[in-house]
Amino acid sequence: MTDPRAPKVSFVSLGCPKALVDSERIITRLRAEGYELTRGHQGADLAIVNTCGFLESAQAESLDAIGTALAENGKVIVTGCMGAEPEKISERFPNVLAITGPQQYETVLEAVHRAVPPQHDPFVDLVPPEGIKLTPRHYAYLKISEGCNNRCSFCIIPKLRGDLVSRQAADVLREAERLVAAGVKELLVISQDTSAYGVDIKYATSKWKDREVRAKFFDLARELGTLGVWVRLHYVYPYPHVDEVIPLMAAGLGEKSGVLPYLDIPFQHASPDVLRRMKRPAAQEKTLDRIRRWREICPDLTLRSTFIVGFPGETNTDFEMLLDWLDEAELDRVGCFRYEPVKGAPANDLAAPVPDDVKKERWNRLMARQQAISKRRLRRQVGTRQQVIIDEVGPTVAKGRSRGDAPEIDGAVYVASRRPLRVGEIATVKIERAEEYDLHGTAVGF
Ligand code: SF4
Repeated sequence: MTDPRAPKVSFVSLGCPKALVDSERIITRLRAEGYELTRGHQGADLAIVNTCGFLESAQAESLDAIGTALAENGKVIVTGCMGAEPEKISERFPNVLAITGPQQYETVLEAVHRAVPPQHDPFVDLVPPEGIKLTPRHYAYLKISEGCNNRCSFCIIPKLRGDLVSRQAADVLREAERLVAAGVKELLVISQDTSAYGVDIKYATSKWKDREVRAKFFDLARELGTLGVWVRLHYVYPYPHVDEVIPLMAAGLGEKSGVLPYLDIPFQHASPDVLRRMKRPAAQEKTLDRIRRWREICPDLTLRSTFIVGFPGETNTDFEMLLDWLDEAELDRVGCFRYEPVKGAPANDLAAPVPDDVKKERWNRLMARQQAISKRRLRRQVGTRQQVIIDEVGPTVAKGRSRGDAPEIDGAVYVASRRPLRVGEIATVKIERAEEYDLHGTAVGF
């Protein structure tokens, strides 16, 4: 039941899954204090915009969203990554009520209280114990740390979000348990650098159930894998200790739960020179050998990555090296960005910027080359049986994802079924056809 007297807040969440988690936390607190959320800005007492400040294009999108909120509502609070550089916002929009940086939940709440005081005392039982999810109920992001100890030269996230601060393992596991109890079937583990989890707290142990669990990548993955749901690992770097989770993934094959054979590793480039200038973590590791070994242990492993072309100083030879590397690595999914300078990033001062037309040409070539590889990898699944989690149901066909597809960034599996499927259900699907990014098949087991 909604209370007609309750103050109403509209919320726009831009940016990456990490920002989405911040939004969820703010919304949870607002709901706990009796605020209602509205779909549009009009009719709300206040609008909050959670911004993304990573790339110039994301900043432009954030500024547009602030402009729209001001035009449609007038009372606007801005938070998120762009809030770390408030002058960029206040110069253009002097009327915003408050600007706060990423993870400053308390400051956002204080600004909301000042603008639209809460109607009544905190009414905690308005909020279900798992919090309010912006993601569909059957999957949820699980943030294990904030900030980053790396200093990649193209990135300002450490400046915006600070050094790595890991959560205690028991704290993460309890949140995961609550999510599972509330019906979540897939946990998406995120942070800026998941493989570095716990370094800052010296892998401290904390008590969960009857045991002590270390705040360490492998230990956390193993425990999450016992919760009876899918666990997907994002933003992992190829440090040697990542090898340890591959047998965990292999052990879970054929099961309906556990750590998925999926790794999202932002490699960004393959040329050692470019990687050095990018100051990438784990850049010196022999990644091709590692990938080969991982696939020997776990042949179903899906690898997703992102790359940047046109980084300052990238020569033709560097770029050709990247294409050759992609041929050998045979990654399943690849995203590619043309390098864009981000204000405040050290890479802006590097010599030999790459002209825009060259960046574009390299981007086109990389995408074409990788598309052929991805297509080949996807086609290998035709004739196999795959576990598919259902995201949407339609009259004749449901849309889901295999263990190799993360929500929002990867492909889909379209499933025909004799009996109606439910959202969040995991079905066994015989794959019959592959398209560029998606698969089609029929449910053969439930
Ligand atoms: S790992 Fe590099 S790119 Fe990622 S957040 Fe840290 S500094 Fe930025």
